[in-house]
Amino acid sequence: MTSDATGGPGGEFPDALLSLRDLRVSYPGKGRRAPRARILKGVSLDIRPGETLGLVGESGSGKTTIGRAVLGLAPVESGTVTFAGSRIERAGRARRRALARDLQVVFQDPYTSLNPSLTVGDTLGEPLLGQGAGTKEARARIAELLERVRLPADAAGRLPREFSGGQRQRVAIARALALRPRLVICDEPVSALDLTTQRTVLELLLEIQEETRVAYLFVTHDLGVVRFMSHRVAVIQGGELVETGDAVQVTSEPRHPYTRALMLAAPVADVREQRRRREAAELSARS
Ligand code: ADP
Ligand code: MG
Repeated sequence: MTSDATGGPGGEFPDALLSLRDLRVSYPGKGRRAPRARILKGVSLDIRPGETLGLVGESGSGKTTIGRAVLGLAPVESGTVTFAGSRIERAGRARRRALARDLQVVFQDPYTSLNPSLTVGDTLGEPLLGQGAGTKEARARIAELLERVRLPADAAGRLPREFSGGQRQRVAIARALALRPRLVICDEPVSALDLTTQRTVLELLLEIQEETRVAYLFVTHDLGVVRFMSHRVAVIQGGELVETGDAVQVTSEPRHPYTRALMLAAPVADVREQRRRREAAELSARS
């Protein structure tokens, strides 16, 4: 590790909303004698209230697994997940249901993450009614959420297939926000969208954060996106964090060779910028 994965002198932010400590996830091997597949090899990170931690790394590095472990969807072998002061890595069903108020997720693919047979109104109403809201209260909140993500009010009566990818992702975001969560795990939320739509959805997420102080764990393989969205960035390689720090610092002066390699692999529109990056990387490789 070239920089500490966490904040203070004890390696942690005392005010963190989410803290992972030495988190290990593994799956049983395929054959009977096959060793377990070790996916996360001791991940530690913190996210403070209202903060975005960008999590970047190449495909297969374990980004989605981190999010799934936080949500209780991946087998935690050891280590801890602390959310708002409580340990949740072994939380059972009832606790998970209660946690859903505070901890939500937006997935990559807006075409599979919404139930195709539910209207947008029912999709947004489900979490509200599930947590005990009355019909009238739910209806008012649905209208508020649609406005929040800039969908027309009559969207409530329509089905997902009537919307574009970007609009569906707005529905997924509205659903995640329905219960006013404190943390939303965004797993490649714009990777399936075209570039202009990406930009508007990212701006929407930023605006929502400004207003609600929601924290994001923002998973992406795109360094441009991670820099645009994050306060701090963690870089993952093969199930281990190799570098964590301030977003601008990590993306403009990466310290770890893997982060530098990621930067070089990132497509940049600007040829001069690409050359500058290469020269900077060569310089720092020599020093
Ligand atoms: P990323 O999101 O960074 O692309 P993932 O977290 O999805 O990576 O996957 C990390 C590794 O874990 C991959 O090698 C993947 O094949 C493996 N993996 C993910 N889910 C499972 C599973 N249910 N069983 C076995 N291996 C898995
Ligand atoms: Mg993934």
